[in-house]
Amino acid sequence: MKQIAYDVDIAVIGGGAAGLAAAVAAGRELPEKPAVAVFDAQPRCGKKLLATGNGRCNLTNRSASSSDYHSDDAHAVSEVFSGVNVDDTLAFFESLGLVCREEDEGRIYPSCGQASAVLDLLRLELMRLGIAEVCGCRVERIHRQDGAFRLDSPMGSIRAKSVIVACGGAAAPQLGGVDWGYRLMEAMGHSATRLHPSLSPLPVTSPHLGSLKGIRAHARASLCDGRGEIASDIGEVQFGDKALSGIVIFQLSYAAAGMRSDDLCVELDMLPERSGDDIIALLTRRRAILPHLTLENYLTGVFNKRIGMCLLKEAGLTPLSRSVAELTDGDIRRIARIVKHWRFPVSGKASWSNAQVTSGGVRLSEMDGMTMQSRLCPGLFAAGEMLNADGRCGGFNLQWAWSTGILAGRSAAAFIQQHRKG
Ligand SMILES: Cc1cc2nc3c(=O)[nH]c(=O)nc-3n(C[C@H](O)[C@H](O)[C@H](O)COP(=O)(O)OP(=O)(O)OC[C@H]3O[C@@H](n4cnc5c(N)ncnc54)[C@H](O)[C@@H]3O)c2cc1C
Repeated sequence: MKQIAYDVDIAVIGGGAAGLAAAVAAGRELPEKPAVAVFDAQPRCGKKLLATGNGRCNLTNRSASSSDYHSDDAHAVSEVFSGVNVDDTLAFFESLGLVCREEDEGRIYPSCGQASAVLDLLRLELMRLGIAEVCGCRVERIHRQDGAFRLDSPMGSIRAKSVIVACGGAAAPQLGGVDWGYRLMEAMGHSATRLHPSLSPLPVTSPHLGSLKGIRAHARASLCDGRGEIASDIGEVQFGDKALSGIVIFQLSYAAAGMRSDDLCVELDMLPERSGDDIIALLTRRRAILPHLTLENYLTGVFNKRIGMCLLKEAGLTPLSRSVAELTDGDIRRIARIVKHWRFPVSGKASWSNAQVTSGGVRLSEMDGMTMQSRLCPGLFAAGEMLNADGRCGGFNLQWAWSTGILAGRSAAAFIQQHRKG
């Protein structure tokens, strides 16, 4: 293997969203070469970025603010957003040449519809600034040495006056998600909270999932435990083999991250715009006008046919070969109740491979939210998903990566300028 020996002002570990934004922000403040270099373990930078937003990159959300994140230190999250907010981020991308478009619920995407455009423009700016991207280079250790840092990798060693750790989280290992960043920071004296996969399908049990696999339906989904509702959202739910999925479920998994799964369940309201009494009236009318049908088709035209049959089975109305005319008022009330409260017990933890983000990470209370500099080790900065702040689905997690990355880059550059003066 070719051995490298870099001596840089700022070494950025991780060439994902946060690391690339950090490198651009730092390089713009320190134009002389070779001030900044990015080291990434993957053969190419930005692998996860390319997969975001189904390849379209939902790069931020118009409404993103500090209140949208789970964290151990809400004050530090507000400091981050007071340093770099959504408008600052959009201005940063405009300066790279990206034109954006806002869609439903404030979600912002590149107008061209390509995540690759976001990555290309970041990399073109690195090139313009003369910042090296060193790929296939996993940093295994960081040491303090002679007032600077030495980074060890199987490719050789790197000397840097300042280090930005932007190694991402453990979610989506197939896209390069790893827990190495936490280990690097722990070795520098930092601590991390427990990690949980978040924004993922929720594994559930139900005798009906086999026949519903692949169906999408509009519903209100609520996450409940023994004490009641924890969170809810309305939108499209997708039925999977052993799990419920879709953005609505991702939002519930965000609320479920870190909770015990044994008494959790997802409750679906399959007609959220109608009250229970409206549904009873609707079902009573259908019994009057469709007495010639069998139960198999009683709900056809209200729901996807397979969903309709499962709702009737869940209400105990088998066999479905019976006539609609046989339904009693009690049967109708039971069906209406299932339509409003269809329960799916959560059967376990979400998996890392299906998760979009890591909940938990390096404690923000150990970082300065104004600069992303470590409170424990001067010259060490961190950014992105590896920090303990995670947001909902809808552009919030990339916004966190951009805000913390840009702040870390600018602050590391200021640290170097200070170093040069001193
Ligand atoms: C399928 C999918 C879709 C998503 N869609 C969206 C979306 O549309 N909008 C949104 O806001 N969020 C989305 N997210 C979440 C978002 O992608 C992440 O939160 C964000 O990419 C985190 O950026 P990061 O730079 O912190 O980490 P990453 O993008 O994961 O980058 C970390 C980089 O560090 C490198 N690395 C790690 N350890 C080392 C080491 N020791 N040495 C060298 N290199 C190292 C890795 O190889 C990687 O390239 C999605 C996530 C997934 C999985």
